[in-house]
Amino acid sequence: MIMGEMNPCLTCGACCAYFRASFYWAEADDATPGGVPEHMTQKLNEFRRVMKGTNQVKPRCIALMGEIGQGVYCSIYEKRSTVCRDFEPSWEHGTHNENCDKARAAWGLPPIKPEEWNAPDTFPQAA
Ligand code: SF4
Ligand code: SF4
Repeated sequence: MIMGEMNPCLTCGACCAYFRASFYWAEADDATPGGVPEHMTQKLNEFRRVMKGTNQVKPRCIALMGEIGQGVYCSIYEKRSTVCRDFEPSWEHGTHNENCDKARAAWGLPPIKPEEWNAPDTFPQAA
């Protein structure tokens, strides 16, 4: 989720404010140096932690910056957990992700179309 130029995630962020982001506890940086900042997590059970803000009725991850549907980024992008890394936006690699559609729909956003990943850069204009 949430990276590079022309990436529709940068104007979305819906999944970070829809699902509970839970992961194996030892992915946090008190067990794995460089891992998920522990202070941004809370215990879910003996084996798992969650990103703060995602285990509630109206989730919103504490690490999500910006306005959903406008402009967003993950403030711990390089340190995010595997559950976040493994969640692929629809059609990024040619595969539909219905959970991406579901999160977007909850925020009033249409599903991503495959062609959104293939939009060419604007050809530079001659001076
Ligand atoms: S850690 Fe980052 S990618 Fe994961 S839910 Fe939070 S904002 Fe989204
Ligand atoms: S819901 Fe889909 S498009 Fe939106 S940020 Fe998540 S993966 Fe990206």
